[in-house]
Amino acid sequence: MREIEIIKRPKSHHFQKVTIDGFADLGITPAIKGVGCMDGRLKLTNPDIKRPIYSGEARWGGGSPGAVGALLALDKKLPVKHAIKIVNEQTKKEGKEFTAHKHCGHVRTALNGEHDISPEKVNNMISYLKDGKIKIKKDKYVGDHGEKAIINVFSRTNTVTPLDPDDQFFRQDITRRNDHLTEVAKKAQSLGSPVTPEKLVKKIDEQVMNTFRALVKEKTPIYNIHLDRPVPVVESGGFVAPRR
Ligand SMILES: [Zn+2]
Repeated sequence: MREIEIIKRPKSHHFQKVTIDGFADLGITPAIKGVGCMDGRLKLTNPDIKRPIYSGEARWGGGSPGAVGALLALDKKLPVKHAIKIVNEQTKKEGKEFTAHKHCGHVRTALNGEHDISPEKVNNMISYLKDGKIKIKKDKYVGDHGEKAIINVFSRTNTVTPLDPDDQFFRQDITRRNDHLTEVAKKAQSLGSPVTPEKLVKKIDEQVMNTFRALVKEKTPIYNIHLDRPVPVVESGGFVAPRR
């Protein structure tokens, strides 16, 4: 991490910049209410900005279905629709919408049996979500996958976005994700589930790593960016390990 400087963007969008040595300069952007997948393809989030950037919602593997999948892997007795209900209710309590997207690599990896959930249960989840029984915000991504890194963001108030749309990455807003999963786990616990916040966070981390092993090149770098400190700090989080 080198210096932080204010750079000017069109339409008076001011971004603080954080430099990741060996990867790219990223913009620091405010966290906004909302949930999304870590998918690194681009969404047009602001029609005033001609080139796409990532918006500031809390992203993690699979978005809302990712949280459901972690619950299902930990509590094999929990019916799929109860797991969806727990995640949906907590999401709404946070003032957000249950958010999913088509062609999700994380869900596809689960379907391939790599998330410690039976593919049958994953299919049940997909059918339930398609049935329109709960209101779902459907995200749309444009372009092709070209993620060159995995970025884990630690902050409740900020996150990062590519300054150059070619510098795509998977983004996980870990602090905000863990806040959400903690409440999801507590709700499941109150209904008699053996799930704990610590186990749920550990489980989704395992599942996401299996997704990376399936989707990205070996040795793709992982960076941990701490935006919750007086000065942003970038640490290496290692690399995506080869598949066993
Ligand atoms: Zn996805």
